[in-house]
Amino acid sequence: MNTKFCLHVPPNMWREFKKSMLESRMFNEEVIGFFFCQRHQVSKRKVRYIPKTWVVPTAECYEHQSTDGLILTQRFHSYLLENHLFAGLDLVHIHTHAGRSIPDFSYIDDRYESEYSRFIGSNFPKKPRLISGVFDEDLQSCKFRMWDRKGREFERVEFCNSLFEISNSQNLINNPDLMFARQKIFGEVNQNTLSKLKVGLIGCGGIGSIFAELLGRLGVKNWVLIDPDKLEQVNLNRMPGATQEMVEQNWHKVHYVKHLIKKVYAQGSHVKTIPTTIESDLAKQEIASCDLIVVATDNHLSRKTAQELALQYMRPLVCLGTHIDVKPDNTPRMYSRITVPPIGGGWCLMCGNIINLQRAALESAPSAINNMAAGAGYLEGINDPSVFWLNSICASTAVGVIHGMVSGFLNVDSGIDWIYEFPGSEWRKTDTEYLQTDDCYFCGINSSENVVQNSDFESPEFENRGFDNSDFIIW
Ligand SMILES: [Zn+2]
Ligand SMILES: [Zn+2]
Repeated sequence: MNTKFCLHVPPNMWREFKKSMLESRMFNEEVIGFFFCQRHQVSKRKVRYIPKTWVVPTAECYEHQSTDGLILTQRFHSYLLENHLFAGLDLVHIHTHAGRSIPDFSYIDDRYESEYSRFIGSNFPKKPRLISGVFDEDLQSCKFRMWDRKGREFERVEFCNSLFEISNSQNLINNPDLMFARQKIFGEVNQNTLSKLKVGLIGCGGIGSIFAELLGRLGVKNWVLIDPDKLEQVNLNRMPGATQEMVEQNWHKVHYVKHLIKKVYAQGSHVKTIPTTIESDLAKQEIASCDLIVVATDNHLSRKTAQELALQYMRPLVCLGTHIDVKPDNTPRMYSRITVPPIGGGWCLMCGNIINLQRAALESAPSAINNMAAGAGYLEGINDPSVFWLNSICASTAVGVIHGMVSGFLNVDSGIDWIYEFPGSEWRKTDTEYLQTDDCYFCGINSSENVVQNSDFESPEFENRGFDNSDFIIW
């Protein structure tokens, strides 16, 4: 079996990249842009390239720019490679051809790309690979390929710029499942996406279990479940279908939630259970292979880890939580919160202060320190108040958000952070514009670097690394 390769650019990043590409053109010239990508081995036969940064040169970076070719200044070119390829990233080179039909690589493309892949494959210690893409002038249709390091052969690469990397081209069910007859209004393509979507659920407790039941009923059949805990008597007030018997038999929460999914789908579902914390390597690896990460735990450390994984692997993250406290006059205040940070950065759970890093640090400490901290009042107990109906509001809304993400009726490009407050019964929506930041340690992407001008890099000296065409590249 051949390995499948895919370049997966999140929609918000693709939109910005495309805009810069179109703006860097004055008339109808060809334009070039670059992605620098991390390689993600999703499974034995699947490799996914995810962009860590992108660069679109402005007009002044070109020595020559016309409808029939491009020449970048050497200074610009070496700046690019020195800064990114030494870091071990792979290079994606995208250029356009005139016209609006499906483009094809030209003879000149073949020749230069072959030389170029040899050049980068032999001049940088981590031997980066070259993926090249050609688009029509509107950046609508494209072809992608990846070269071997000798520049002799190339393989096809799929390009995906949607939130979820699920192809709807094949296997559209001709005879739709009667189970989803009442959801037909949302379209069969969306139902099909839901049935292929692989969801990683971290936390299978009071919120996670309701969430799984609801999203399972909506049509999601592929799950990775992570939770180290076992069912306890005190959980029975809020876990659908959980029984006294399960508690007595010492069920892990992951097995109980698997049981819920299997009740919905006697056949055709895949549920992987990992009864550990998300900090274990196996759990991390499995979560990275999921199309969507959902975190519904009661601690800050696992949320931090989930956010880091989502950023590293460019996966959408949905974060759920509830909180109940009692005011001095003895009336309770109750909250549900659903947070979806923008994919790939902009703001995150950490810089958005949605989790508390001090608490996460305490939670990662050995239990002796942890007990001490709890004694000193730094940690809330695990006996936090919690009720089924409030958890249901949270889980329901999150499933609605995901339904909207899949169907496209909800835009999460700049992220969302919704808080429901009861008994006031009000939804408050954080204005995520205020959360945007460039210099977060966790999610900062330094977007000012993306559009590069020649004058930005008075590079003092560089070594000529022996690219045959010594002064510039032409495409
Ligand atoms: Zn070309
Ligand atoms: Zn951040």
